Amino acid sequence: MKIIKTELGIEKICGLCGESWPLDEDFFYRRGSGWHSYCKACCTLRTAELRAGAVRKVKLYKRKGIKNGNDSRGIDGNSGTV
Ligand SMILES: [Zn+2]
Repeated sequence: MKIIKTELGIEKICGLCGESWPLDEDFFYRRGSGWHSYCKACCTLRTAELRAGAVRKVKLYKRKGIKNGNDSRGIDGNSGTV
């Protein structure tokens, strides 16, 4: 965790984009007693990428016929699991 002191206050360097942002809840998510190592923008981006990947995987399974027949109602509405 990289934290730096600037004229404006304490900032934290995002582990993904490498930019420094003010260390508060506007820019970083809290994780337990500390802070997430990625800034909010990167977290959002990463989550979106992971979700897109998951959706792609489900579509691939469907095409391959792995998920055939069995109760498939939950697959498309199951966006809560990341
Ligand atoms: Zn970032």
